[in-house]
Amino acid sequence: MSTRIKIIGIAPPTIVEAPMPLDDSLRWNSTHENNLAPRAHVFLPQSAYAKCVTHTKSDLENEVGGALIGQVRIDPNTERQYIFIQDILPALYTKAGQTHVTFTQDTLVHLNNEVEDRFPRQRIVGWYHTHPRLGVFLSSYDTWLHHHFFNDCTQVALVVDPYHEQGGFFVWQNDCELDPIHYTGFYEWSDVSDDSVIEWNNLTPQVDEAALELA
Ligand SMILES: [Zn+2]
Repeated sequence: MSTRIKIIGIAPPTIVEAPMPLDDSLRWNSTHENNLAPRAHVFLPQSAYAKCVTHTKSDLENEVGGALIGQVRIDPNTERQYIFIQDILPALYTKAGQTHVTFTQDTLVHLNNEVEDRFPRQRIVGWYHTHPRLGVFLSSYDTWLHHHFFNDCTQVALVVDPYHEQGGFFVWQNDCELDPIHYTGFYEWSDVSDDSVIEWNNLTPQVDEAALELA
């Protein structure tokens, strides 16, 4: 019986080995990429992006937020780490105001239970929340929350301004610092459409120079 309990309680693999799906992805850059040395790159499927846009646009007055669910992966060829976001979980039991969303203890317990029940092979790879009209940055409270609850070096914070249609990821740097101003883009993974579905206007798609030369 004790063996069985251990099997039921088995944690998802810490890091999954899988090549970066670069062929099916479009890289989106922020204007801050040169200031950043991310510990992990971010891959975001179009299906998860669409859910995130729907939730973040649902309230243009108050902040909303939730968890990013997925896998931590390592590319066996380059040994680069990346996170692959597979779904989002809107948070319950938050205390929302115009300038802050608070993840209470109940929020975190609920999110962890949901992941265990619905996404047994996945983990919380980060969190997202909105800053309606305020822009993309981490407040001092956001930074405190990220340090206390999302301090694994691959966990990320996505901030969305749904009013201005902007978004960006805050990631732990190679020196284990968190930059609250400079955010990074991500790789849009095409699981729905060959055409891009990204509508955040503060990011720009990376031009494939090899393709340009062929054209
Ligand atoms: Zn915030």
